[in-house]
Amino acid sequence: MKKKSIIKSILQLKCPHCRTGDLFTNPGLFKYSKMLDMPEHCAHCGQKYEIEPGFWIGALWTSYPIIVLIITPFIIAAVTMVNINVWFLAAALVLTMLIFFPLTLRLGRAIWIYIFVRYKND
Ligand SMILES: [Zn+2]
Repeated sequence: MKKKSIIKSILQLKCPHCRTGDLFTNPGLFKYSKMLDMPEHCAHCGQKYEIEPGFWIGALWTSYPIIVLIITPFIIAAVTMVNINVWFLAAALVLTMLIFFPLTLRLGRAIWIYIFVRYKND
């Protein structure tokens, strides 16, 4: 069986063990309802998602760089553009963060679990 790409599997929020089952009950990067609802186990291979109590707290470490990537253009704009309205920039930043909120949470969790669970191609 052909090995599935790790990047593609993370972006599709697939199980790290089989890369087939969905990590979230409501799959997709921009889902605003049931944002963090995950099944206990993978529907395809049975991999347990919450490996230990409090496991997902560590996903803050993988969400943080994603948030930095989103915020960086706003910081560059604030520093380099002289005549930019600060309130417009702040509103645009808040709106952008609200739009990307589910993406940062879900991708952070996906990257976090991919660090600990190895792929088994079967
Ligand atoms: Zn699986």
